[in-house]
Amino acid sequence: MVEKYKPYLHKVNDFMLYMYTDLPQFSELMQELQEHGLDSKCFYDKQWSKKEVDDAEFLILGAINECEDPVRSEFDTHFKNHCKKCKAHLEQTSDIKIRRKYVGKWDFYSAYEIRNIVSPRVKEILEREDVPGVAFRPVYTLKVEDPIGWQLIVEHILPPTHPDSNLRYSVNCPVCGLKSYVYSKTDPVAYGPEIRKLALDGFNRSHELFGGVVYPDPITIVPQRIRQLFKEHKIKGAGFAPIVIKE
Ligand SMILES: [Zn+2]
Repeated sequence: MVEKYKPYLHKVNDFMLYMYTDLPQFSELMQELQEHGLDSKCFYDKQWSKKEVDDAEFLILGAINECEDPVRSEFDTHFKNHCKKCKAHLEQTSDIKIRRKYVGKWDFYSAYEIRNIVSPRVKEILEREDVPGVAFRPVYTLKVEDPIGWQLIVEHILPPTHPDSNLRYSVNCPVCGLKSYVYSKTDPVAYGPEIRKLALDGFNRSHELFGGVVYPDPITIVPQRIRQLFKEHKIKGAGFAPIVIKE
């Protein structure tokens, strides 16, 4: 049986294979496994085609690389503990410091989960192009007195996402009521058509918080022209995932 599907199966490790679900062979294989009573587990992940990314009107802008190892490991170094139960740290109380080894490595990266940071070169580009909706907060290392990067501060809030986004809770705190989300594995983040009127032609933030338990934060949403601007200037380390608009 495996021979037949071999051209469509790609090895992840000794126990896992992946296959594109939009191939007709995928449903055939699933059916055959079921008919033979074979035990299998499926994990789904969404992969975008180049055309889907090129055609998207709006995209989520995120960093591909995160500084894994902030200068100090105490949770409240830069963020105030909002609730003892869920341990969310929301309010930022000081400028982020990162380890020296990350300086100059990327143009765009994140720290404390999804706090996006840009290099001085990217800050200059965004300022020169007069991109609306973004302010900059300095990022330091322990020893350097001048900023080595800039945290992006995005304040323009979009309306809530469309229910078809099928977001899942990462936090739903019974004490403080805080809710934070993770993306659905199969459904893209969606908005209603009003996003076209309400979004700035620059940087926007989601109404919802996203991400892990400790540092939930809104995601950043930008129009296609920002992706093109990043491409034009060969800005390294930024990732773009399309938003779907439900008409
Ligand atoms: Zn809480």
